[in-house]
Amino acid sequence: CGIVGYIGNNDTVEILLNGLEKLEYRGYDSAGIATLNSDGVNLSKVKGRIAVLREKVDNNVQATMGIGHTRWATHGAPSEENAHPHQSASGRFTIVHNGVIENYYEIRDQYLADVSLKSETDTEIVVQLIEVLNEKLNDVTEAFRQTISLLKGSYAIGLIDSQNQDTIYVAKNKSPLLVGLGDGFNLVASDAMATLKQTDRYLEINDREIVIVNRDFVEIQKLDGITVEREPFTAEIDA
Ligand code: GLU
Repeated sequence: CGIVGYIGNNDTVEILLNGLEKLEYRGYDSAGIATLNSDGVNLSKVKGRIAVLREKVDNNVQATMGIGHTRWATHGAPSEENAHPHQSASGRFTIVHNGVIENYYEIRDQYLADVSLKSETDTEIVVQLIEVLNEKLNDVTEAFRQTISLLKGSYAIGLIDSQNQDTIYVAKNKSPLLVGLGDGFNLVASDAMATLKQTDRYLEINDREIVIVNRDFVEIQKLDGITVEREPFTAEIDA
């Protein structure tokens, strides 16, 4: 299983599909991508191989950002409904997640009693919680931060907000995740293998940091909001 994300000016759909193909060796049962442009979010997901996803994706969609996922089901059977990306009730927020949210029943009971869930996954409660908290706070970064601070378990998360074409929100805990740095674009991936065509420069992300990934910059914050400075490293792997 794995996640990828891309924000730039190039062919987002192809970069995401190619990244997912590079993650295929990790094993998975379903896959999906979500891209965002001025018309909104375009979501494609399938049970099965990336080749099947490739056939389903509308190649005519032009987008400069998006997220992708290969799933190894832990909560909810492998199916199109349970495949990622998952969306919040209003459709505003879209998420990909690898790992296991251990306290998802607690979160559901405490915060999401009024939300009708669309899947059987632990992941969906994360994106629903972000929407519920954002309705209160009206601040997406803060809603994301509060959500991360409530989660227990393992995760690599990529989140997009359909009202913001400039940011992918990222966080991890105990699951692998790297940010790849480019010139006018940036990437997110579980594994450098997924992005080697685009870059060899990476930023390491520590557990429970909040990462704001834009086209031209990456900002890392601690959970308390304090910005962290970190030097990139160069990966020496043959593509
Ligand atoms: N726990 C999540 C699910 O079952 C994510 C699984 C994964 O890491 O792919 O959907």
